Amino acid sequence: MPMHKEVTNCLKGGKVSRYCSCNHCTLAVCSVCGAYEGSLTTDCPGERVGYDKQQEVYTTKLDYIDGKGWHQSEHGMQERAVRFALTDDELTMAQQAINDAKMQGRWIEVSGLQKLLAFYRRGTAS
Ligand SMILES: [Zn+2]
Ligand SMILES: [Zn+2]
Repeated sequence: MPMHKEVTNCLKGGKVSRYCSCNHCTLAVCSVCGAYEGSLTTDCPGERVGYDKQQEVYTTKLDYIDGKGWHQSEHGMQERAVRFALTDDELTMAQQAINDAKMQGRWIEVSGLQKLLAFYRRGTAS
């Protein structure tokens, strides 16, 4: 099934870094459909989703599920189980980054990273 693919490029150039605060570095963003966080559908539609449609996904129960296509679901974005493809390496890296940030007391960063990881977990658990 098609899953969202986390972006790897930083908006300021280069690779995603945990020291950067741009959207690509701090939010769950899909490089295929371009949606992020609350505007992410359950499965990746596999093509670019326009701004208006992203807003609709965010504000209504519009969702995309593999085999079902675009439809109004029973769940809003709060309960949506977004599926992200994530390699074991990427998962380990994210966990390490959280531990580092915790040790150094960077709590804003910790909560941001944990949110990201929650997206991943929801994806891998299903
Ligand atoms: Zn996607
Ligand atoms: Zn960045």
